[in-house]
Amino acid sequence: MFSILPSVDRVLAMPAVAGLIRDHGRRAVTAAIRTRLGAIRQAIAGGADGQRLVAGLADQLAADLARAAQVGPQPVLNLTGVVLHTNLGRALLAEPAQAAAATAMARPVALEMDPDSGGRGERDEHLRQLVCELTGAEDATVVNNNAAAVLLVLNTFGRDREAIVSRGELIEIGGAFRLPEIMAGAGTRLVEVGTTNRTHAHDYRQALSPQTGLLLKVHTSNYRVEGFTASVPARELAGIAAEAGVPLLNDLGSGSLLDLSALGLRREPTVAQALAEGAGLVTFSGDKLLGGPQAGFIAGRRELVAAVNRNPLKRALRLDKIRIAALAATLQLYRDPDSLATHLPTLRHLARPRQEIAGQAGRLQAAVQARLGDRVRVETCECASQVGSGALPVDTLASAGLRLRPLDDRRGSAPERLAAQLRSLPVPVLGRIRDGALILDLRCLDRDADLLEALAPP
Ligand SMILES: *Cc1c(COP(=O)(O)O)cnc(C)c1O
Repeated sequence: MFSILPSVDRVLAMPAVAGLIRDHGRRAVTAAIRTRLGAIRQAIAGGADGQRLVAGLADQLAADLARAAQVGPQPVLNLTGVVLHTNLGRALLAEPAQAAAATAMARPVALEMDPDSGGRGERDEHLRQLVCELTGAEDATVVNNNAAAVLLVLNTFGRDREAIVSRGELIEIGGAFRLPEIMAGAGTRLVEVGTTNRTHAHDYRQALSPQTGLLLKVHTSNYRVEGFTASVPARELAGIAAEAGVPLLNDLGSGSLLDLSALGLRREPTVAQALAEGAGLVTFSGDKLLGGPQAGFIAGRRELVAAVNRNPLKRALRLDKIRIAALAATLQLYRDPDSLATHLPTLRHLARPRQEIAGQAGRLQAAVQARLGDRVRVETCECASQVGSGALPVDTLASAGLRLRPLDDRRGSAPERLAAQLRSLPVPVLGRIRDGALILDLRCLDRDADLLEALAPP
């Protein structure tokens, strides 16, 4: 009964397979044929219609090979309502940043060369001036991410010494950035002061010793302590650090370059403000509110940045040319704050007014209903987006979207099954489950067609 199975060579010689060999290479096609023929053999043994399976072999191989060729992170539609979603790669780059990155990928660039003199230049030079101009810092450097920035500063000033931190600021950021562990990794002894909810100036003063290497203030970016609380204002902390002759590091986490209240968001401390309040160094991320590629900035006083740059670890944490190019192009956009929300996808998404999103939901409702059929009811709904990545944790942004309610939910798991179904599309559509329905928050949907095409793949 296996006699209808063609040989591997005969399949390789089929006209329909020639194109696959061209696209995927003979070796991959041969392996795919072997696997598929093995599966057909088993199916025939189990009583399946071998004739039909063999007839569909070429199509099946094309699908197998296309699936195997999908490597690396694939595009998805982020309708979760979380704008800066760490698991989805955080900020989307502005077009000038994409173009700059593409150029740096494809062509030699004067990364560490001064084109004027032909002599050696510094890779930091491409970003230093922009950061200083936009933040008022005397000097700045950039490393792989903000975790690396904090690690490098701690290691520079606190190795085999002590760093004093309030117990209210011993944060864990998702993805295992835990301050006590970063400290241990940097060779810094953690000196905790105060309590979870209240820390006073005298707590810091009492903890000062000849062993103190630095004072650390950490922006509690992903939670908020409310109620009976006290913390020491950055300005006062800077005074205590100065008296002790050690630097104050203010880790802002997301750190914004401008006042976001103009976009209707709550004020996050800006980098310029943190520096003006006397922090010797400020650290912040490139791919959170700033809206660029993954990176960690260290900005502040000249002699402190110089000490950071002398640390041999700096070399291990440095940025590549692609991200330097993308970051410079992103920062360049900040020189014109008025048009920033148009050009920077992160700020554009954060600033989208609810009514506009609700209008989009109204436009899409019937078409989405038609694509999902009558087992799901599609309605427009109000919802609340989040900034994400630990920025502005408690605040939500009034938003709108589509509520997808499975009509037959006897087992009570229908929303989860619907979510899984949408996740398995060629371009996965990601929403979130709330009150027995799957919510698609449309805040980050730039084009209506993206959703409709994703739901009805060709
Ligand atoms: C996000 C965050 C970090 C880590 O930044 P990455 O760029 O993700 O490495 C560190 N500190 C704070 C306060 C943060 O919010």
